[in-house]
Amino acid sequence: MARRSSHPQEPEKANQRMQGHPFIYASGPQEAQTILITRLPRRSSSTPLQTTCPYCGSNVITVTSHVPGVITWLLCTGLFLFGCVLGCCLIPFFISGLMDVRHSCPVCHQQLFYFRRL
Ligand SMILES: [Zn+2]
Repeated sequence: MARRSSHPQEPEKANQRMQGHPFIYASGPQEAQTILITRLPRRSSSTPLQTTCPYCGSNVITVTSHVPGVITWLLCTGLFLFGCVLGCCLIPFFISGLMDVRHSCPVCHQQLFYFRRL
């Protein structure tokens, strides 16, 4: 009776090499730099000025409108802290010289410039 010595041969795993540095290919040069214009360009003039509208292309004189700015809110807060709580703190919102000026196109009504006092 012959002894059957069975040695199961394990398959060698020589072909499986761990590659520690997988190649990471760059997806490509970032050539498209999107420049988002979040702020309107500033102009140091609170009076209407003549310019060419970039939206409609017409040569216009801007229409100004006063909007509350940083100085307006600071004065409002200051007046409120000094006791002007009965509506007097809202006075800066009615003084056009204390507010920012927004220039807009009279043709297409797009906002062109922004004049900040601070
Ligand atoms: Zn326009």
